Amino acid sequence: MQKMLAMQVGKARGNFELVEKPIPEAVGNLVRVKVEACGVCHSDVIVKDGLFPGIKYPRVPGHEVIGVVDAVGPEAKNFSPGQRVGIGWHGGQCFTCDSCRRGDFITCDKAKICGISYDGGYAQYMVAPQDALARVPDALGSVAGAPLMCAGVTTFNALRHSGARPGDVVGVQGLGGLGHLGIQFAKAMGFHVAAISTSDGKRELAMKLGAHEYINTSVEPAARTLRKLGGAAAILATAPDSKTMHALIEALGAGGRLLVIGAGTDPIPVTPIDLIMKRKSIMGWPSGHAMDSQECLEFAALTKTHVMVEEFPLEKAADAFEHMMSGKVRFRAVLKMT
Ligand SMILES: [Zn+2]
Ligand SMILES: [Zn+2]
Repeated sequence: MQKMLAMQVGKARGNFELVEKPIPEAVGNLVRVKVEACGVCHSDVIVKDGLFPGIKYPRVPGHEVIGVVDAVGPEAKNFSPGQRVGIGWHGGQCFTCDSCRRGDFITCDKAKICGISYDGGYAQYMVAPQDALARVPDALGSVAGAPLMCAGVTTFNALRHSGARPGDVVGVQGLGGLGHLGIQFAKAMGFHVAAISTSDGKRELAMKLGAHEYINTSVEPAARTLRKLGGAAAILATAPDSKTMHALIEALGAGGRLLVIGAGTDPIPVTPIDLIMKRKSIMGWPSGHAMDSQECLEFAALTKTHVMVEEFPLEKAADAFEHMMSGKVRFRAVLKMT
């Protein structure tokens, strides 16, 4: 049996371990992918620290995967060896629960998560059900494409389902891994884009990425500037800081939506009055299914979205993870296979 290198987590709160494992078989509807790049997402902490119940260890994390189809199972007829594909957070659906019967795969009751329900992309090879695979446009490199499979599709989907129309004011709070993509997507979608940050440090970058306004909330509250512009139709909250999110509700215009994608665990303090009078709402957005990811990849290629990454070899996955957790990686860390 042929072997591959993989970076696994042996147990909840265990360390990353570089191991040799058998290359997995493409059976049934599984597709085997030779991994070219895998993004390191904050949600990989779920595997590292055992934050979801029932994770089977050892587990190989990684749900921002781009690679090449290497083998297909007998039931995986939609793909063939040599195609470039991506696998994101949404790792497959059951097709039989009520959500799936409605075609709403992302809220599937038995949704699988790549790198949590099964081994993910911190490895030279992985297998995934064919319904979890997105096709990757030729114009998009594997390292740039990887973060789009989670960070990208989450911001892209939240924005395109926000109800904001071209010309509407849309805020993007936080200018890290999610926010730098959010600004570019919002610009490309035709919104009047306001970057919202807590300092002036990223002003130049935000304007270069396409923001029309830059709000430094340590100098002026976001609500003051955005209300002058008529209020935001939507604000994409990417920094997992619930207090900051609360302050953004005031910056929404009538019918405005706070799109919560920065996954924090603290409650967002909000009163019914904050929401009622101007029909405001707070909406979460969970990534996207394979076709959403594919559309995000195509949109990024079409609009020449600049995905800002720091590369690490697979062997340095622990460093990549640690740098990401401690904020040393300003945008996205990506493992590049050799
Ligand atoms: Zn993720
Ligand atoms: Zn389902």
